[in-house]
Amino acid sequence: MLDKLKQCYQVLKEVSRNSHFEGQIDVADLSRLGELLANSESTIEMQFEFRVSDYDVPMLSGEIQTSLQMECQRCLQAMETPLQLIFKLLVDAPDDVIRESSLDTVYSEDGLIDLFEVVEDELILALPLVSMHENGSCNKHWQVSDNDREPVARENPFSVLKDLKTTH
Ligand SMILES: [Zn+2]
Repeated sequence: MLDKLKQCYQVLKEVSRNSHFEGQIDVADLSRLGELLANSESTIEMQFEFRVSDYDVPMLSGEIQTSLQMECQRCLQAMETPLQLIFKLLVDAPDDVIRESSLDTVYSEDGLIDLFEVVEDELILALPLVSMHENGSCNKHWQVSDNDREPVARENPFSVLKDLKTTH
């Protein structure tokens, strides 16, 4: 099992050491992300490193792997949503470098970078807009056919009433 990662890192110190880290973060510690999920019980595994980029500013890059519990839009139950992503971010890059590199930048505060915030932003951007169980049978009241994703023709409401009457 991986160790828990600490939240903040001194950019210049870690860049000078070309530091590499590996560890995990609890989703429960990322409240903005947690609000978008069915629950916050998952953990995030990641590795990352600090180095000087080709643009002569610090760079934070790494890999994130997790399986988040999103709410299925059809049955409203939690569903596993595996996510794996790679990120590459400049740190405190000036505007001309951002334009030239077409990389995003994150900003340190008093020389410290908040890793949790970086990971949280990356995961929020990577979340699928709509999540649903692949097996369409998780909610039998759902009004969409999974074969063609077209709305099912509505029944004549009067024929439904007639059925109700005849069942008794
Ligand atoms: Zn479902």
